Amino acid sequence: MHLRLTDEQQMVQKTIRKFVEKELVPLENEVLRNEREGKPSLPEGKLKELQLKAKEAGFWGINTPEEYGGADLGQMMLAIVQIEVAKTFVPFQFGGSADNILYYGNEEQKKNYLLPTINGEKKSCFAMTEPGAGSDTRNIKMTAVKDGDEWVLNGEKTFITGGNEADFVMVVAITDKELHESSAGREGVTCFIVDRSMGWKSEYIHTMGEWGPAALVFDNVSVPERNILGKVNGGYDLGLEWIGFARWIVGARAVGAAERLLKMAVDYANERETFGKPISTRQAIQWQIADSAVEIEAAKWLVLNAAFTLDQGEDNRHAASMAKLYGSNMGNRVVDRVLQIHGGMGYTRELPIERWYREARLWRIYDGTDEIQRLIISRNLLKGHVKIG
Ligand SMILES: Cc1cc2nc3c(=O)[nH]c(=O)nc-3n(C[C@H](O)[C@H](O)[C@H](O)COP(=O)(O)OP(=O)(O)OC[C@H]3O[C@@H](n4cnc5c(N)ncnc54)[C@H](O)[C@@H]3O)c2cc1C
Repeated sequence: MHLRLTDEQQMVQKTIRKFVEKELVPLENEVLRNEREGKPSLPEGKLKELQLKAKEAGFWGINTPEEYGGADLGQMMLAIVQIEVAKTFVPFQFGGSADNILYYGNEEQKKNYLLPTINGEKKSCFAMTEPGAGSDTRNIKMTAVKDGDEWVLNGEKTFITGGNEADFVMVVAITDKELHESSAGREGVTCFIVDRSMGWKSEYIHTMGEWGPAALVFDNVSVPERNILGKVNGGYDLGLEWIGFARWIVGARAVGAAERLLKMAVDYANERETFGKPISTRQAIQWQIADSAVEIEAAKWLVLNAAFTLDQGEDNRHAASMAKLYGSNMGNRVVDRVLQIHGGMGYTRELPIERWYREARLWRIYDGTDEIQRLIISRNLLKGHVKIG
C-alpha cells in the first residue's frame, strides 16, 4: 500500500492546478458580473475556446477510451482533475467526454450520438426524475407505446440537468406496464434516445443556484425503434448506472471547492484585525479552520477510495455513497464556517462565498439525497453485503 499520489498523478495535478489558476481564476470576476446581470456565466464560445486550450495541453476526454480519441486516464485521475477544477466556480468542464451509458449504443447510435457528443457537436441530458418520482425512481409514470416501427412517448420529466441546452435526451419510460408492476418497478422500463427535433419541449426551472435544470414535456412524441438504448425493458439498470457514475464525483467537487474556500478563510483570518489583533489569533476562528481542514482531508480519502475501487474493476457503490454523503455535507459545513469567518463580507455579493453557499446545498440533494445515501450504506451493512472494517 502506498498512500501517496504517483509521480504521474502529481504531474497531472500540477498541470491542472496551473491551468485553473492561469485560465479560469482570472475569469471569476467576469462570471460573477455576468451572473448578477442575469446573463450566461460565460459568453458563447468561451467554454469551447478554453476546452481547446486544455486539449492542447493534453486534457481531452479524461475518461474517454482511446479508441474514441480520449486520454482514458482512469477514475483516480478523474478524481484528481475534478478536485482541481472545482477550486473555481467558473463553469468549466474538460471536453471530449460523453455520458457513460451512451457507450452501450449500437454502431449507428455511436455514430449519431456518442461521437458527436465526445466531439462537442451535440449536447445530451439524462431524464429519469418525474414530478412523482425522484428518490423513488421506480414510481415513474411516463409511457412508451409501440406503434409499428415507432414508440409513442407521453409524460413529464423534471429537474433535468442540461435539459434546456440538450440536443437529445436519454429518457426512461414504461414499456411493459405489467412487468413494471410485477417487478416492483425494476423492469418493464426502456431507455430511448430522443432528439429535440422529435418534439419534446423543455422549460427552465429557476433554483437558488446560478443555473437551472429543466422540466421536459413529451406529448405524443414518436421515436423510431432504432433509438432504443440498450435492451427493451432494460432501461432501469441503465438509469441506475448513469446516476451511480456521477455520485462520488459530487464528493470530489465538494473537496475542491472546500479547499479553495478554506484558503480564503486562512488568508482573511490572518489579515482581518479586531480589538487590535488578527482574528486568526482567536481560538474560535482557529477551531473552525482546524475542523474544516480535518473534514476536507477525510472527504478526500473517501473520494480517492471510491475512484481507486472503480479503477480496480470492483463494485464501488458503497464507497461512492460514503464519498457523496460525507463530501457533500463536509462542503456545506466548510462553506458555512468560511462565510462566518468573513463576517458581513462573507454575506455580500462582493465575494463568491455566498454563491458557493447556495451551490453547495444542491450537493446534498441530487444524485441521491443524504437520506438515500444513508439508506444504501445502512442496508449494505444490515444485510451483510458489505462487512464492517
Ligand atoms: C438541480 C438539480 C439537477 C438534477 N438533475 C437531474 C438529472 O439530470 N436527471 C434526473 O433524472 N434527475 C435530476 N435531478 C433530480 C434529483 O435526482 C432528485 O431531485 C432527487 O433524487 C430527489 O428526488 P425528489 O426531489 O423527488 O425528492 P423526494 O424523493 O420526494 O424526497 C423528498 C425528501 O424525502 C426524503 N426521502 C425520500 N425517500 C426517503 C426514504 N425512503 N427514507 C428517508 N427519506 C426519504 C429525501 O431524502 C428528501 O429529503 C436533479 C435535481 C436537481 C435539484
